[in-house]
Amino acid sequence: MEMNSANVEAVVKQVLESMLDKKIPSSSAPASSQAIPKTAHVAMLTSLGHYDIKEFPIPEVGDGDILVKVEGCGICGTDAHEFKKDPFGLIPVALGHEGTGEIVKMGKNVKTDSAGKPLKVGDKVVTCMIFKDDPDIEMFDLNKKNVGGADVYGLLPDDDIHLNGWFSDYIFIREGSSVFNVSDLDLDSRILIEPCAVLVHAVERAKTTGILRFNSRVVVQGCGPIGLICIAVLRTLGVENIVAVDGNPQRLEFAKKMGAEKSVNFMEYKGIEALSAAVKDAFGGHLADFAFQCTGSPAAHSNIYKFIRNGGGLCELGFFINGGDATINPHFDLCSKEINLVGSWVYTLRDYATTFDFLKRAQAIGLPMKELITHRFPLEEINEAHETNLAQKGLKIAIVNK
Ligand SMILES: [Zn+2]
Repeated sequence: MEMNSANVEAVVKQVLESMLDKKIPSSSAPASSQAIPKTAHVAMLTSLGHYDIKEFPIPEVGDGDILVKVEGCGICGTDAHEFKKDPFGLIPVALGHEGTGEIVKMGKNVKTDSAGKPLKVGDKVVTCMIFKDDPDIEMFDLNKKNVGGADVYGLLPDDDIHLNGWFSDYIFIREGSSVFNVSDLDLDSRILIEPCAVLVHAVERAKTTGILRFNSRVVVQGCGPIGLICIAVLRTLGVENIVAVDGNPQRLEFAKKMGAEKSVNFMEYKGIEALSAAVKDAFGGHLADFAFQCTGSPAAHSNIYKFIRNGGGLCELGFFINGGDATINPHFDLCSKEINLVGSWVYTLRDYATTFDFLKRAQAIGLPMKELITHRFPLEEINEAHETNLAQKGLKIAIVNK
């Protein structure tokens, strides 16, 4: 820890306290190690394709509220859609939900996070989007709702608080929100929590088919961040026989670094027969036991059945938003092969908490998770960051505050 003047003050206070054996009253309780400014800077999407950095007063922190100094926030596909088209009709809106930062002030009623872990000033936290009608939430006894239900920091309509998104230097977490203490994870891992939770959930969905085992042959189609993290989650489970399918050589190279045994570049094959033969070849003459579809392409959905053996399984998770209709032949693709199909979307609070452990395990077995964050921009360059994201020049683009 850096010894800034505030820390020195805290140490002196501690020493004096132990000498005098009594509490010295502090000016603001609970004490923060950093000076809190009067105003915060928020990247507000004010029109299609454009953010303005706005300055707002930091509101009074109530007994159940938490003020967080933002360290960073990943740009999600959802942010990209809002930036381009505003499908949720939120403009003006403070975006950014894959964020993390340090508690600088909190109300006296805040004692623990949503999982019951103690919370104090200085702890690193993330918030969580959950869906209020999710039955899994009760299983984990984390049935708290984010700001009144299905709402999410970073996708809230603007209001009097204004500090509602993680693309900012301070965010105001209101009483009753889902918040987790993740002080034991480094900044890059914390920025990756939200997308990783999507894959922890998808793999949990896949496991319900009973097909996914240590020695399963698994196809992961699509090697963007979602497909790459899918490979990582499978590796932490001990699944090793993974074939990655994509059309981009760099991404396929990364898939192998992440732990895919083989890769198949679909650009090198003409027609689905040749492509499925290549996948079969990669498995030493076998079709896959299980497949994860991680692209938003309808044609990719139509194709993937051809990679799967009779009685195998498929998890479709690529269509986070409506990407149009896909054609399959229900007789050949689904019925006669007795495919076990599961869909997957977002995650539950339980998966979210599991993701913290996944990230620790991924690090322990040496998976190159941090390399998923290919670009880091300061808050002032948020427009450029989004343009880079839309141009698909990297994998995960993040805003990182100084
Ligand atoms: Zn997201």
